[in-house]
Amino acid sequence: MEDLYQEIILDHYRNPQGRGLREPFEAQVHHVNPTCGDEIDLRVHVEERNGVPTVADISYEGQGCSISQASASVMYDSLVGLSAEEALASLGRFQHMIQSRGQEAGDEETMGDAVAFAGVAKYPARVKCALLPWMAWKDALARATEGAEHD
Ligand code: ZN
Repeated sequence: MEDLYQEIILDHYRNPQGRGLREPFEAQVHHVNPTCGDEIDLRVHVEERNGVPTVADISYEGQGCSISQASASVMYDSLVGLSAEEALASLGRFQHMIQSRGQEAGDEETMGDAVAFAGVAKYPARVKCALLPWMAWKDALARATEGAEHD
């Protein structure tokens, strides 16, 4: 299992999904994980679909360790196309698993490739690496939806 998970993480690291900064976007953030030196620039594009705010795109550029870079790719795959509410729920599941110190294996049915990071939860130093892109996205989403309310 651990080997399979490492393979998934390496695969996303080598072939990152959705990488690159794109237009249009409503908010852009820059987040840093000083412990490891990981950095990410991330843009979020939210669109109303059937009256529901939907994550239409997440585009990003990053540098740092394989965990942080792979996590950004997995996050892109996991969240794009979901409603903002579903995407926040996915973030909640990922955060819960990664902060469980290895107690929570994660549910592959609802989490997809994100369960590959379950093993990372056992290494407190790497938890911030895995969370970096997800927290950057949460921040960007909050800014994007805040802006929409003032329009
Ligand atoms: Zn890192």
